[in-house]
Amino acid sequence: MDRRQLLIGGLSAPLAASSATRLLAEGTAPVFIGDMHYHLFFFGKNPAPSNPLRRMMAKGNATLVSWSLVGDVPWLRLAKGGFAQKGLPKNAQEPVTWFDEELARIKAHLDSQQLKIARTADDLDLALKGDPHVVLSVEGATFVDGDLAPLAAAYEKGIRHIQLVHYIQNPIGDFQTRKPEHQGLTSFGKDVVRECNRLGILIDLAHCTNEAVMQALDISTAPMVWSHSSVTRGKQPNYTMPIWQARQLSMEGAKAIAAKGGVVGLWAMRVDVGRSIEAYADRMTELAEWLGEDHVAFGTDLNALANPVVKSYADLQNVVRHWQIKKVEPARIRKLAIENYATALRKAFAARTA
Ligand SMILES: [Zn+2]
Repeated sequence: MDRRQLLIGGLSAPLAASSATRLLAEGTAPVFIGDMHYHLFFFGKNPAPSNPLRRMMAKGNATLVSWSLVGDVPWLRLAKGGFAQKGLPKNAQEPVTWFDEELARIKAHLDSQQLKIARTADDLDLALKGDPHVVLSVEGATFVDGDLAPLAAAYEKGIRHIQLVHYIQNPIGDFQTRKPEHQGLTSFGKDVVRECNRLGILIDLAHCTNEAVMQALDISTAPMVWSHSSVTRGKQPNYTMPIWQARQLSMEGAKAIAAKGGVVGLWAMRVDVGRSIEAYADRMTELAEWLGEDHVAFGTDLNALANPVVKSYADLQNVVRHWQIKKVEPARIRKLAIENYATALRKAFAARTA
């Protein structure tokens, strides 16, 4: 070995060691999964008792999963590509009773699974480090009807993420799959936004019409999410389209949500996002190009889609692997996989003034 080689060896050795350590860390550190929109029911084909959540999460290292209680289930029927209203609550108490009973079933399942509920920023930190947590959320705030009090009660019960509207007529605002009747949010709906801010509950705009999205963005003091569907560059979605297209978010709406620090989730709807894990993964990174890497997350809608392209959290680990093969930056991967959802929750929690 001559002097020059020695010199190079001496200089390069520490560099080589540190980059090897870095690569090793990146190669072996698990990427945890967050999901802004997941369902598990106590009826139907795949009910919770026979489809235990802990096992489902463990299969793909999912550690921050929003279990979305569907607030209007008793008044829904299946429709082509989604759901539609089959009736309306007879009184204001019916949806509260449904909500309370379903939440009790959910909590009993979580207890039986020894799964923790994410209630605080500290819980989010734990989830990001690999300790599984479930975010209790509601799809369709049907349990709130002319009176804000049930929101504080829901917060006390652990709810931290509320989607304003779903598939049935409601006093909060217009939704995508029915002819608009309020020009966006009602004044009560605007009060619901303010009350969620005050309590520190993350607001989810999925299913809202574009007008309702824009009005909520004007009012909210915290970033909000659009938990599930996709973003279209085509014409403004409307209720006359097939459900999956009616349910898409306009580019204008998506950019407005992102500009306020919010996050948009991509669902696993095959007809929309493509027929393979790779197609889904590429749609996610495309969305990150459109909206910025801080504003995109998973929002699978699992167990509510007939034939999802992503079928499990193990599949989302395959999405991560696809990104790694395509040399997506590890920091970007972590943001899309879990951190962006955690950040949206964290900001909503921090806005609490109650
Ligand atoms: Zn939905």
